[in-house]
Order: sequence, then C-alpha cells, then structure tokens
Amino acid sequence: MRFDILTIFPEMVNAVLDSSIIGRARQNGYIEVNTHDIREYTQNKHRKTDDTPYGGGKGMLMSTQPICDCYDAVTKSLPNGRTKTIYASPRGRIFNHEVAKELAEYDNIIILCGHYEGIDERVIEEIVDEEISIGDYVLTGGEIPACIIVDAVSRLKDGVLSDKECYEKESVASGLLEYPQYTRPRVFRGKEVPEVLLSGHHENIEKWRLERSLEITKQRRPDLYEKYISEHPIQTEAKKK
Ligand code: SAM
Repeated sequence: MRFDILTIFPEMVNAVLDSSIIGRARQNGYIEVNTHDIREYTQNKHRKTDDTPYGGGKGMLMSTQPICDCYDAVTKSLPNGRTKTIYASPRGRIFNHEVAKELAEYDNIIILCGHYEGIDERVIEEIVDEEISIGDYVLTGGEIPACIIVDAVSRLKDGVLSDKECYEKESVASGLLEYPQYTRPRVFRGKEVPEVLLSGHHENIEKWRLERSLEITKQRRPDLYEKYISEHPIQTEAKKK
C-alpha cells in the first residue's frame, strides 16, 4: 500500500513515520510513504504558498496553485489501483477503527495537510474525495493527523505487525477495551500479578481476560459495551453465570 502526503512541513511527517514499527515497515517494503513539499511547486517568486482570505478575516489560507500542481505531479507517478484523496480537516468524518479498515482496502492513499486557517475551498472541490477529522479539536496543521491515519491504517496491513492477533485482540478493534496486562516482576511495590495469569490454565486465563474487558468497557465506554453484548449475547450470558 502506498501513502503520499502533501505538506509544507515534510520533515514533521518524516520524523514520525521514519521511526519504530512504521519506519521498519517502510524499510521492509510492506508500505510505501512519500512526502511531497508543496512549497517546491509554488510559482510565487517569494516561494509563498498562502494568501489572505477574500472577504477578510484573520490568518492566511493555503493557495490553490501550489497544492494542485503538487497533486498533479503525485497522481502522475501513482501505480494503478484504487486511490483515495483525503484532506485532514476538523470538518471531516471522525476517524476511528472502522474508517481505518475502510482505508486499508485502498492501494493508494493521498493525504493533504492544511495549515494556518486551512485551504482554498476550490482545492477541496477539485482534488479531495473525503475530509477526515481525527477528533473534535483543532490542531495547527494536518501533519499530525496524517501520521495518525498512516499509522493506524498501516498496522492493519500484512507484515507490518508480527501477527494479525496483535491488532485483532486490541482495544476497540475487538469490540471491547483491553483487559489489564502484566509483565515481570511478579510483585511490584507490593502489587501482585493476578494469580490466574500464572496458572498456565488457558481457558481460565481467557475467561478472566474477557470478564475484565467487559467490566472495563461497561465502565468506560457504555456505547461499545451495549453494542458488544447485543452482538455476542451467548458469550456475555456465559460470563454472568
Ligand atoms: N479554519 C479551519 C476550521 O475552522 O475548520 C481550521 C484550520 S486548522 C488551524 C489548520 C489545519 O490543521 C487544517 O487545515 C487541517 O489540515 C488540520 N487540522 C486541524 N485540526 C484537525 C483535526 N481535528 N483533524 C484533522 N485535521 C486537522
């Protein structure tokens, strides 16, 4: 899967996506991430990529020409396949695990990062398939949202994590929040690891984990809990006995 990120701060995106698991996945060819500096495409003699908004108002808007020329160059270089262009924007559909799964079905994802007051609306009309928000708050730029989208989608691609189970059993992806986990030492500041986890009895361990997951989800995310018990009535009934 290939990601192309259009930004005026490629160094921000690369700093994050060159590191750790995603950095390794890039090196090993499981995903491809290309960053494109919008400023390289400006025809403005002062290398400007923004201007004041028509109608007045504070702040600057990113202009049409550099973004659309950058986009044209990127699309020319794309391999065949399903492609989607996203604008990271607080006006967009809220990003979550379901959206990540949907995006993981594409071959090419292009992400446009805004800055300042945002971008000229005609760019969105011209090139964007969907606006996606990473939450109901406003950030200074789309670079962090782009990294979040690339990270969450990439984890779902084969080879990026060592095992599918790594994400299928995790919070939200499984439909529940995760149960508590422990590693060595067995006792830390007087707190002991729950006995059942040391028992080696896999069935009891699974039962304990499901019970804790249900408890935590009911307490913290009643919305997820209700959905889960309506979809898994037998499992949750068994737990009550
Ligand atoms: N004036 C815009 C508005 O009210 O919708 C906000 C612009 S924001 C300061 C600058 C850029 O940050 C946006 O163009 C967008 O790319 C990015 N951004 C900010 N918050 C975001 C969010 N919650 N999700 C995704 N992108 C966001």
